[in-house]
Amino acid sequence: MLLWEIDCSLTQLTEVYGFERASRAYLASLHAVARLKSLVMQLGIASEMRDRNSLLLAAGDTGRQLHEEHDLRKRAGLPGDFLDHATLLETFSIARAGAIVSPGSADADPMQLARGTLAVAIGRGARIFEAEAVQFDASARSVGVLLKNGREIEARSVVLATGYVMPDIVRSTVHAASSSWAIATTPQPENIWKDGVLIWEDSKDYLYARSTAAGRIIIGGEDSREVVEPDARDALIPEKSRLLTQKLAALWPAARLDIEFSWSGTFDTTSDGLPLIGPVPGTKGIYAAYGYGGNGITFSFLAAELIGDLIAGSTSPLLRDFALDRDGPPAR
Ligand SMILES: Cc1cc2nc3c(=O)[nH]c(=O)nc-3n(C[C@H](O)[C@H](O)[C@H](O)COP(=O)(O)OP(=O)(O)OC[C@H]3O[C@@H](n4cnc5c(N)ncnc54)[C@H](O)[C@@H]3O)c2cc1C
Repeated sequence: MLLWEIDCSLTQLTEVYGFERASRAYLASLHAVARLKSLVMQLGIASEMRDRNSLLLAAGDTGRQLHEEHDLRKRAGLPGDFLDHATLLETFSIARAGAIVSPGSADADPMQLARGTLAVAIGRGARIFEAEAVQFDASARSVGVLLKNGREIEARSVVLATGYVMPDIVRSTVHAASSSWAIATTPQPENIWKDGVLIWEDSKDYLYARSTAAGRIIIGGEDSREVVEPDARDALIPEKSRLLTQKLAALWPAARLDIEFSWSGTFDTTSDGLPLIGPVPGTKGIYAAYGYGGNGITFSFLAAELIGDLIAGSTSPLLRDFALDRDGPPAR
């Protein structure tokens, strides 16, 4: 899911940072998805990328909070419409208290997208090595990266993008690792909901559903901050798959519940839903890109732009908003 809507609502972000800073993050995310889409098109990367609307569902008994969220988004210049219970039911056959339907998102096959972009980078001179970085030394004019195999890389600029495993030199008080589980059905293109919108809800357990180009339904969520160790996380796949299957049946009763794949993964989240992008404080020439939450692909694109521009000499107020050493709200 290439969503521009952030894990933290605009309402929550505004409460923490004020409207101007909150809406700047939302608009940056909206524009990042648009630029990512046009880049993929321009580079001709085959990744089954499709323009999609997103449907943010009310998780509780009332759509009031979503209605307020929609009003605030309008004020920020963000696109989208609020649907009350009756309109949502009539348009999407989904029974919830309300929803916001928004244009501007997309979906794609992440493996094809990753391989395609790497192939372009390699074609332009990038070199890829498989090795573990164990130490960083920024005391000289260039940065030294010591690898576990004993070799050392020397570079003018180093960008850390090691997912939820951060090296010791990166310290942030707002991030936490979180695991997530997902299942995919066998193809059933005849059973997909209207327009294959990207469905999500920001409930306590988080839930999202999308379809693939082949007509599979993918549903995921059931996130946990307690279980991040890979073996323990994977051991929960059968139980989480059962829960997700039940949630699919409740969300979309027309779905055929033939589950062909199930998996889990761990990713990095922040208490304010914003990424950690920018220079690593206390070092020179080392930059970091972490804390993407559920917007991994959108925020990684934004990180590439912001850090690339910074190394080339230009800065952005977003780098203050996403600073690694920012003070954020306590964990949600
Ligand atoms: C089940 C699931 C579903 C998701 N769905 C979506 C979605 O639909 N849309 C979306 O935008 N995001 C989604 N996300 C989030 C997204 O996957 C992540 O935010 C994203 O993968 C982070 O990308 P990354 O490259 O920063 O880190 P990662 O993908 O975690 O990659 C980091 C890499 O660094 C390597 N590494 C770690 N330490 C070192 C070291 N010391 N030296 C060398 N290499 C190292 C790791 O082995 C790994 O290969 C999902 C996450 C999960 C778990």
